[in-house]
Amino acid sequence: MATRNVRDGEVVRVEKTHGLDRAGQDQPAVVMVVEDELAIARLLEYNLSQAGFQVCVAHSGSEALALVPRCDPDVLVLDVMLPGISGMEVCRQLRQAGSRPAIIMLTARADEMDRVLGLELGADDYVTKPFSPRELVARVKAVLRRMTGAGTDPAGTRSEVYTVQDLEVRVREREVYRNGRLVELTAREFDLLLFLARHAGAALSRDQLLSGVWGYDNPGDTRMVDVHISHLREKLEDDPKRPQYIQTVRGVGYKLASGGGR
Ligand code: CA
Repeated sequence: MATRNVRDGEVVRVEKTHGLDRAGQDQPAVVMVVEDELAIARLLEYNLSQAGFQVCVAHSGSEALALVPRCDPDVLVLDVMLPGISGMEVCRQLRQAGSRPAIIMLTARADEMDRVLGLELGADDYVTKPFSPRELVARVKAVLRRMTGAGTDPAGTRSEVYTVQDLEVRVREREVYRNGRLVELTAREFDLLLFLARHAGAALSRDQLLSGVWGYDNPGDTRMVDVHISHLREKLEDDPKRPQYIQTVRGVGYKLASGGGR
């Protein structure tokens, strides 16, 4: 499997279509590993290549930011602790620039602050060090599966649109319109909204959302759900504190109001 490593500043331009088309066309998805520890970077590069991904590697935050436009990754595996520009800052800058690859943060053991901050900055998932390469590869696959709707959701290949109030969630295009205007969401925000839209009107527990959107089998860190819900509200609601769409169901979780009052 092709591996592009631009550690020496040499960049190979690879012709390819955009991420989602690429997945549909059976071309390998591109994973960018951002990790300054060479041993870990090589281990990830090896295992992801073995799993069939195209891999590019950056060893610092600034290298990562410079490389993203050329590498055009579908998924970033982003270490938090990097020399110079931190992983958090890379995440923040990418999201601010409207960049939409899935981002999996590599965080220090049990450092909850890192996890929450990463998610607040727009990361989709995190893996705690130390981790097994197998686990990491599984997370990358899970995030891609959700992005492309492949595997668990054959609907991803046909036109499927959910209309809830004045929101329109287009599955194939992975686009959300509010009153006909496109709303920019990250991959995970879209997945979360889609899951809510598919169950519009139903109260969903945080654990149901964790399992349905994140693919976690065991009840996990439900703050992840809350953080993403608050992002969605900021992007969708006129007044995030008095949400018209995504409502809090006390003692349970959330529901997407299907319309007809608050
Ligand atoms: Ca590091």
